[in-house]
Amino acid sequence: MIRVRFAPSPTGMFHVGGARTALFNWALAQQAGGRFVLRIEDTDATRNRPEWTEGILSALAWIGISEESPVFEGPFFQSAFEPQHREAVAKLLADGKAYYCDCTRERLQERTGSEHKGYDGFCRDRGLTEGAVRFRTPDEGVTVVDDLIRGRVEFPNDAQEDFVIARSDGSPLYVLANAVDDITQGITHVVRGEEHLGNAQRQELLWPALGANPPVWAHLPVIVNEQRKKLSKRRDKVALESYREEGYLAEAMVNYLMLLGWGPGEDREIMPWSEMMPLFKLESVNSASAFFDEKKLRAFNGEYIRALSPDEFVKRVEPWLDADWDRATFAKVAELAQTRVAVLSEISANVDFLFLDEPFFDQASWDKAMKGPAAEILSGYLARLETAEMDPESLKTALEEVGAEHGLKLGKAQAPVRVAITGRTVGLPLFESIEVLGRERSTARLRAALE
Ligand code: GLU
Repeated sequence: MIRVRFAPSPTGMFHVGGARTALFNWALAQQAGGRFVLRIEDTDATRNRPEWTEGILSALAWIGISEESPVFEGPFFQSAFEPQHREAVAKLLADGKAYYCDCTRERLQERTGSEHKGYDGFCRDRGLTEGAVRFRTPDEGVTVVDDLIRGRVEFPNDAQEDFVIARSDGSPLYVLANAVDDITQGITHVVRGEEHLGNAQRQELLWPALGANPPVWAHLPVIVNEQRKKLSKRRDKVALESYREEGYLAEAMVNYLMLLGWGPGEDREIMPWSEMMPLFKLESVNSASAFFDEKKLRAFNGEYIRALSPDEFVKRVEPWLDADWDRATFAKVAELAQTRVAVLSEISANVDFLFLDEPFFDQASWDKAMKGPAAEILSGYLARLETAEMDPESLKTALEEVGAEHGLKLGKAQAPVRVAITGRTVGLPLFESIEVLGRERSTARLRAALE
């Protein structure tokens, strides 16, 4: 049975790259009837915070990785397994596969004459009984990491120092803890970010030393921004949570994340999870870096929003509506708005004019629309609006007639009216908006614009 794991460290907001790693693992577990183990790697007590762990759990649930699924195991916390980590260190020492070392950095530098040379193996055969613990690495040959995505990666052993697996206070290091947990949890496939390829080299040696066959490795390509730089917390919007708050739909986000380094082929991109999941293959993940294209994600999201049923749209957009907006009024324009928002938070800019006493005007829109015969158009339309039938067709005919009197086509004649009514130069269809707003409020707005 395939057993994969997702092993985030709770040291910050949950990153879109982490979400991609989680989804790839989730697809593998689901398609094979395997297991997905969630292991929170919380051993760095100085950088962990419980709220980051909660953030991970809620973000995973949002993208459909649910603790309720029979495929899901955990969450486990790495800190709880420290006794096993210490036991593993003790066993490696007892087997002569690791040794104590009391060299300080200064002493090592004195011997090797360089800051950058690795450890020289000085303590290998000194038979010390305390100090940091180093793993004895081979001096010759190569260590091969057979990576499903990168192919055969060879690391010359003479460049790999005897690395530390436990500090002199006995606390085990991450590279060891991670391997021990993977072994104990029966992990068959380690699928994680490319930045861990160096750890794979060391773990390829640790696994057999701990009595286990190394797993299948797959290191996912880095995710880069428009400047082809690795996505970073400081530069880029990387927190999954910020996309959620902006009104991205989970299913659009999941679809987009699955395409970072992989694709279902045949130029297909928009595809629901249920179809995508069985097609996913580690072997067809691309090793080249993957571009996180926010514009494309937005376009995806717009498509997903338009594909919702009207009822579902109203349900999903609800959290972005002000509490005091009349829902019956909103219901009248919901379908018109649905086609015009790419992210749910844009709903407000589209419909707020219906609920405000006076629309919000920005100077640029006002200046753009209120020129030429704008005042004549407004007063001419105002006169007709006093008596016009309040249906979109009649409202349109009335404005066409006013425009014609001034030699303007409908498009041009609409501009000042639209800004007077909605405050904006673009938005919902104008005549439907006037119908919903009603005669009294619409005429009042035209009058106010004429003052
Ligand atoms: N805890 C590591 C991280 O968050 C993951 C290590 C792994 O997947 O092996 O980067």
